[in-house]
Amino acid sequence: MIMGSLQLYNTLTRNKSEFVPIDEQNVRMYVCGPTVYDFAHIGNARPVIVFDVLNRVLRAIYGEKHVTYVRNITDVDDKINARALRDFPQLPLNEAIAKVTEKTTKQYHDDVQALGCLAPDIEPRATEYVMAMAEMAQDLINKGFAYVAKGAQGREVLFSVESMPNYGALSNRKLEDQKAGARIAVEDHKRNSGDFVLWKESSASEPGWDAEYLDEGETHHIKGRPGWHIECSVMAREHLGEVFDIHGGGLDLIFPHHENEIAQSCCAHGEDKMAHTWLHNGFLQLEGRKMSKSDGNFVTITELMTTDKFGGRKWSGQVLKLAMLMTHYREPIDFSVKRLEEAEAIWKKWPTVENKGGAVAQSVMDALLDDLNTVNAIQAIHTLAGKAHESDEAAATFAASADLLGLLPVAEAISDDASSDIETKVALRLECLANKDWGQADQIRDELKSMGVLLKDGKDPDTGERVTTWEMER
Ligand SMILES: [Zn+2]
Repeated sequence: MIMGSLQLYNTLTRNKSEFVPIDEQNVRMYVCGPTVYDFAHIGNARPVIVFDVLNRVLRAIYGEKHVTYVRNITDVDDKINARALRDFPQLPLNEAIAKVTEKTTKQYHDDVQALGCLAPDIEPRATEYVMAMAEMAQDLINKGFAYVAKGAQGREVLFSVESMPNYGALSNRKLEDQKAGARIAVEDHKRNSGDFVLWKESSASEPGWDAEYLDEGETHHIKGRPGWHIECSVMAREHLGEVFDIHGGGLDLIFPHHENEIAQSCCAHGEDKMAHTWLHNGFLQLEGRKMSKSDGNFVTITELMTTDKFGGRKWSGQVLKLAMLMTHYREPIDFSVKRLEEAEAIWKKWPTVENKGGAVAQSVMDALLDDLNTVNAIQAIHTLAGKAHESDEAAATFAASADLLGLLPVAEAISDDASSDIETKVALRLECLANKDWGQADQIRDELKSMGVLLKDGKDPDTGERVTTWEMER
């Protein structure tokens, strides 16, 4: 039973308010996923981790079966085409693209799993919805929000930002201001420099789909591909409906991506909202500087976990996740080796206990309900970790609370043989202690320690007898 209500900061209203779902039986959330042309860097890990926490909190409140979390895969994009041409010049473009997107998508899934994040309920791929995107573009032409024009790169279907009276509401940008400050030359074929692509013509060597557009009585056959923004508008509607509860992503997506998603969806559907609540995570810097591949200040998730590129050693996905959640999601993060060390020091103090379905501590829940205050939640979990050995109930509360964030340490799986060997040694040591053979007992303890086994001595509360439990060092 969850006490208290979930408060979320809504970028659209610029304040923190109670989250009230449209339908409690089906709480719907869309988060922009990766464009699969390159391995995800740790900046990309942040939205994955942040919205995993929100997904878990929503599930805790409304029930496992009453939340639909959609995160897309953008597998059609000019960056992907460029990468395909670079890496597989000998292959036909479509095959080369498939190679790039398959490999990158698989790595992304592996990364997300290693971070201990749940998979979304639905993971649509843009290429599966291209015809629906073309239909939405035509619908926007029909309703007077879009037009066909010929630019330098071929014909395009463009969204007319001036046709939408409140365009710019999410990012708080007014069209007049944009015009006044505009340094970019208006491309001749655009009615306004802010007009953006819904569909663009492909050259013979680029991937393209056949589509026909009717604009002002004229039919245009444009073999082409969708713009990035319309991909999300269509995939969100296909799975969550025209208006849904939460839309999330990184701060850098507010403009133009999310602004344009809103423009397309609201104008196509005749609604004044696309999503009721918009959540954005803050930026990430690496060692005090902007992450940049060309400067060498750059690390991918998989490099961090499997190589010694960052701080001269490997880091676990769980430690990376914990390090990320030690900053509130809306604050900028300065990610560093020091921060990972701090997170690991905390992580190592958390016991390996199985979550048998205990209740999450109210202190942890209260923190998360307050706009996902993971900083306070982790502090509360750390306090619970320190008390976990006191009673079964305390251990169960700790386990349930850590598990809510997907941060419950799991004991290394060890073979039955190794386990019985350890048990034998532990029993032998207890015998030594009973016989006051301290030297021999210490020797066994040291031997076990060298095997990564930590011993904890205690007393049986009923009999008062000495008991020893053990766990594998993490
Ligand atoms: Zn998107």
